[in-house]
Parts: sequence; C-alpha cells; structure tokens
Amino acid sequence: MAKLDEPLRNLLGARTAKVLASGLDLHTVGDLLHHYPRRYAKRGELTDLDGLREGEYVTVLAEVTKVQGRTIPRPPGYLLEVTVSDGHGDLKLTFFGRKGSYRAERELSPGTRGLFSGKVTVYRPRGGGRPQRQLTHPEFRTVAPSAAAGEMAREFAEEIIPIYPATRGLESWKIEECVQIVLPQLELGPDPMPEATLRRHGLIGLEEAYRGIHKPRDWAELERARRRLKWDEAFVLQVALAQRRLAASALPAKAWPRVEGGLLDAFDAALPFSLTEGQRRVGTEIAEDLSVKHPMHRLLQGDVGAGKTVVALRAMLQVVDGGGQAALLAPTEVLAQQHYRSITEMLGPLAQAGQIGGAEQATRVALITGSQGAKARRQALLDAASGQAGIVVGTHALLEDQVQFADLGLVVIDEQHRFGVEQRDALRAKAGDGRPHVLVMTATPIPRTVAMTVFGDLEVSTLAQLPAGRAEIKTYVVPPERPKFLARTWERIREEAAQGRQTYIVCPRIGAQEGEEEGAPALLGDEPGGALGDEEDGARRRAPIAVLDLLPRLEEELLPGLRIGVLHGKLPPEDKDAVMRRFAAGELDVLLATTVIEVGVNVPNATVMVIMDADRFGVSQLHQLRGRVGRGTLPGLCLLVTDAEPGGRARERLDAVASTTDGFALSRLDLEQRREGDVLGAAQAGRASSLRLLTLLQDEELIRLAREEATALVDADPELADNPALAAELAVLLDEERVGFLEKA
Ligand code: ADP
Ligand code: MG
Repeated sequence: MAKLDEPLRNLLGARTAKVLASGLDLHTVGDLLHHYPRRYAKRGELTDLDGLREGEYVTVLAEVTKVQGRTIPRPPGYLLEVTVSDGHGDLKLTFFGRKGSYRAERELSPGTRGLFSGKVTVYRPRGGGRPQRQLTHPEFRTVAPSAAAGEMAREFAEEIIPIYPATRGLESWKIEECVQIVLPQLELGPDPMPEATLRRHGLIGLEEAYRGIHKPRDWAELERARRRLKWDEAFVLQVALAQRRLAASALPAKAWPRVEGGLLDAFDAALPFSLTEGQRRVGTEIAEDLSVKHPMHRLLQGDVGAGKTVVALRAMLQVVDGGGQAALLAPTEVLAQQHYRSITEMLGPLAQAGQIGGAEQATRVALITGSQGAKARRQALLDAASGQAGIVVGTHALLEDQVQFADLGLVVIDEQHRFGVEQRDALRAKAGDGRPHVLVMTATPIPRTVAMTVFGDLEVSTLAQLPAGRAEIKTYVVPPERPKFLARTWERIREEAAQGRQTYIVCPRIGAQEGEEEGAPALLGDEPGGALGDEEDGARRRAPIAVLDLLPRLEEELLPGLRIGVLHGKLPPEDKDAVMRRFAAGELDVLLATTVIEVGVNVPNATVMVIMDADRFGVSQLHQLRGRVGRGTLPGLCLLVTDAEPGGRARERLDAVASTTDGFALSRLDLEQRREGDVLGAAQAGRASSLRLLTLLQDEELIRLAREEATALVDADPELADNPALAAELAVLLDEERVGFLEKA
C-alpha cells in the first residue's frame, strides 16, 4: 500500500522509475499522481488536427487513411508514409528504415485508429505548395475498434482516454500504464481536508479524486475530481496565508490613534474637494488599523487617478499628529520628486515648520534620493533623524544605512511590484522597537482573487471609482491601413500646442547605442516588446521606434517650431528632473519619452498622449500611460499608433484599450492573455509547482470559499493541532516554497 511520498521505484521497478525521473522529473507516487492528464480523448472521437502547433510534442487520436511505402535512393532506404485524419484535416507520419522492418507497416492500414505521439514539424515543399504538418518517427499505439455492435460498441466508444503531457520515450500511454499500476495500491490515510469542509462543499475523498482525474468513467466524475483537487490547492495555500496574517497581526507595533485638532484635521479642512465615498471608507479602515498595537499590512489598489495619494497622505498625517514619522518609498527618482512636490503643495503652510508663513502645528517634508547634492542630503538626513521631518519621501536611497528616523511609524510603498521583499524588510528594520505599519499602493488594479493569492498576506482595500468631475479620456487606434490618421496625429499635436496645451509622445526604446531599457518589469509583465508581441508576429519587421531616432524627425519634419523635451532612463537624474520641471511649468510643448513617465507623473495641462508602436506595450501599461492625460479639467486624448495589421491579437488588445477606461476590466484581459506563471511573477516561480489545476481568474469563487474556510480553521486552531494531516501537507508546501512568495512578507 502506497502513500504519496513512496518512491516510484518501489512500485514500478528501478528501470521505469529511472525513465520517469529523467524524462519528467517524477520521483514519488505523489509526483506521478499530480502529473495530471492535459486533456481527455474519447475513443470514438478523433483529435482536431487543426489545433496542432509546430514544435509541440503531441498525442493525437486519429484514423489511418493511407499507407504508402517507397524505396528512396538517398540516403538509400525505404520511406513509409502514413496519412492519418480527423475527418477534416490530415497529418503525415513518416518512418524511415528498411523495407519490412517496421511495426508501422504491419499494424497500420486504412481504417486503423490509433494514438500517435511525436513532435510536429512542418514540411514546406520547395517552389510553393501547401505546407504539410508531419510527425517523424512517431510512437503509436493502435486503438482496437470494437467488433461488437450496439450497446457494447457505444460504451466502448465513450471510454475516456487520458492524454498526458508526454515526451519522447515516455508516451502518454506509458504514463497511463504507470498510473494504472499505482492507483490500486494507493492508501492515503486521513484526509488533510477537515471533514466539515468536505461536507459543507460537497467534496469527494482524495483517493476517489485521484482515480477520477486519471481514469474517469464519465465527465461528471472527472468534474468532481477536478473540483476536489482544485480545492486542495486553494485551501492549503490559504491556510498558509491565514497563518501568516495571524502571526503578523500578533506582532507588536506602536498605535497611532487619531488626534483631534492636529495636522490631519487642518488638512481636511483645507482640502479643495470632498473625499469620495471610497476614499472615506478606505480612510477609515486605515485609520483603524493605525490605532491598533499591531502592524497594518494593507494593499491599497485603485486605478490611475483614483486618489490614492490623498488617502496615503492622510494616513501619514495621522501618524505625524501622534508625534511619529512616515516614509514614502517611490520606485524611481522622477516619482520621488513628483511625490515630494505634490505633497509639499497639498500641505502648503502645514509643511512649512520653522518657516515664515508656516502653520503652527506644521511639520516638514524631506526628500532623500541618490542623486541629490551633499548639502541637501545632509539637511534631509538630519531632518529625518531628528524627527523634524514628519514625512520623508525617497527612492531606494531611503534604505541606506545612513538614513535614520527618530520614530518611524508608517511606511507607504508606492507601486509595490517594483520593490523586492528584502527592501520592504530593510525599511521596516528602521522602525526601532516594534514594527512600522505598512501601506502598499498599486495603480495596476488586480482582480481580487489574484490579489488575495499573490498578496495573500495583505489586507486589500480598493478604490473602485474615480473622483467625480474627472475629465474624459478618448482613445483611438492609429492603424497602418489609415495613413491619414497618423498625419492627423501630428496636426493635432500642433493644434494643442497652439492653444497652450501639451503632449506626451512615448516610444518603446531609447535608441542610439543604448544598453538596457529602464524600469524593472512590473508584476503584471508589460515589458516593451516583451514575449507577448514577439510570440504573435514571429519575426519582427523592424526594431521598435526609439526616442532618439524620432527626435530629429519631429524637430525637422513633423513638429517644426515646437519645444520638445526628451526624457529617458539613461539621462542623469538632474537632467530628468530639469526636463520634468520644464514640462510641468509649461515651458515645453512636447515631452518625448520612454515609459519613465509611466506612473504618478501629474501635469494637468497635458492633454494628448501619443504612444508609438503601441502594440509593443502590455494592456495595463497602455492604460497607465494613458492616465497621464486628462488629469485636469481638460479632456484627454490618447492615440495608439501601430503598424499591427487588423485582425491579429495585437490589434485586439489595442481595440480593448480604446474601448474602455475601466482599469480592472483591462487588467483582467491582460492576465487572461498571460500564462499563470507570468501572472504570479518570477518571485513566485516556486509556486507554479503547487498550482496545477487552479486558475486564479476562473476559480475566483472557489478561492474565496477556500479562503473563508481556511481563515475560520486557523482562527479556531492556529497551530493545526487538531488537524495533523493538514499540518503535514502544509509542511511540505512550505518546504517546497521556502524561497518563494510566502517568505515575501
Ligand atoms: P492616484 O495616486 O490614485 O493616481 P491621485 O491621488 O494622484 O491619484 O489623485 C489624482 C488627482 O485627483 C489629484 O490631482 C488629486 O488632487 C485629485 N483628487 C483626489 N481625490 C479627489 C477627490 N475626492 N475629488 C476631486 N479630486 C480629487
Ligand atoms: Mg498617485
């Protein structure tokens, strides 16, 4: 009788075990049973051959239509060509050897059905002709047609055949044989899923589930099996996360209850607008978190322009009112500068402690970046260390050892996905005794279940609506089949400039002899010219448009006389800041840039965003970029310039961006187009191993239920003392993923 950790060699013998280990990295009974079929075929139904892709290793169920052998001179030998069909399309199988030497010759004849397994190649006849897909020297196994008639034959045709992810030498049917040897010997012991949970959600037992997924008698049985196994994946993960949340919330932290009549009240009173309902609700959640003697771990997500900064600033002021300090960590120099400026502006006299005109209870805002001058830096370090600065804004430079705080109570991290775990920890370590409260802000909205899993150790707050009265942004695709649209684009920029308004033009590359592009890839992918684009179009026609190549054309030809500034990651920080300043002050008509302007940049007078080679950007990134315009009262215009042909996936993405401004809908689309591993990001690579059936987007309801069950269980039994089987399974997961995401918090 075998448990999951039983080595395969004990059941299958050393030779087979060795093949499974080297071919598919399967070592234990559990490994083999978790190697789920990729799909299922019915004996009576042939595989759709249209779907086969070049280079894939496939297993197809098909019927032989033709067998033809001939002697060939070079190399001398005998070529056997077998054509198989699914009833519409066909596929050629080629075998090469000596006449009469093949099993294929004996076993395959027109009318024979079989499973065929091999790598798809495409033969392209010289001088044109239809390309022919083929498998060279495929492995095969015939599927005997039933001689019996009537009911028996029907049952036979209905039989479900699992098709496993296979590899040369380890065909699907060989894996099936191994599984069939192992299954009857399975004895798993107590179920790790609590009895009550199984009952509440109508879940079947684990052994039954393994049988059902590998050898289902019908689709209903398969569905029950899949549901149970998905629950396992979701549940164990959520138990781990619930334990982490519980442990984190038990840590000590300083409480910063709201102080009446302080900076926060003064700020609220001076605010030129009223907070949206969402801002108020989230504000209350955060205020309550800060008033408790345990550290807050909260993710604040909201679309571009949803008003997150105001919410974060109010949280910081609550801490400052209590005599503490808050740090705001931004991913880039440009953004740190920008936050510094906008916070100082929003606070006005409230940030001018010790200055003429400063308010009575005023504090100071300090900026710490890697590029600032020695004098400014010394002053900022002093203000932070002495506590004079209630708010300290900065880049990674904030993490350096010289940066000390008098009493750091709150850390706000902007655009979380660009920071690693170690960096969160480094900042946290500066809080002296106890831990600071942590608020993470992200403008890339993530569907709730993804957030619950990827950031499962954080509580999630969402700002769902934008403040009222926000100007509209219209988006259009400027496609290759409409050259007039492009001419009109340049004209439009000139018109806007004539009215004193400004334009961003974004390119995917810096150009000239650049090295690396700036900007760490975001959590949700979005590298310019990344895998998505390349996969689709195969060979690229040309390199992406670059800032430094476009500049002379704009100056001389397309936008003569306009004042054009250039911004990209290779510029020295002072230059970046100077260009941003000039653009913000209206001294430039056009800012030609890479994606450095992506997040947070706020110039209300900018009305047009032109994105060159827009198909090279991800959906979320386009949405982010578009959020740079329409920030004031003037309506925004976003033009997506592309030479992607209509009808392709690239154009579909651009059309989607043009058709909605709902960031949540778009991030969903973005996620759907990526593989799960990409969604979870490299940091979670280890996790790919534990999510086999579960898809974060399609199993939202299941994940939600599993989280409820897990949370209740952990609340009642934090150490899982009453659930030893679950504790054991959890230990395996944590062990596997020690270096993975669970360590992130
Ligand atoms: P986010 O950081 O979420 O992208 P911001 O906090 O930068 O958004 O807000 C975008 C703009 O909207 C800012 O100019 C801000 O002052 C303004 N704003 C924020 N909240 C409101 C509100 N409730 N009503 C009107 N304008 C607001
Ligand atoms: Mg912002």
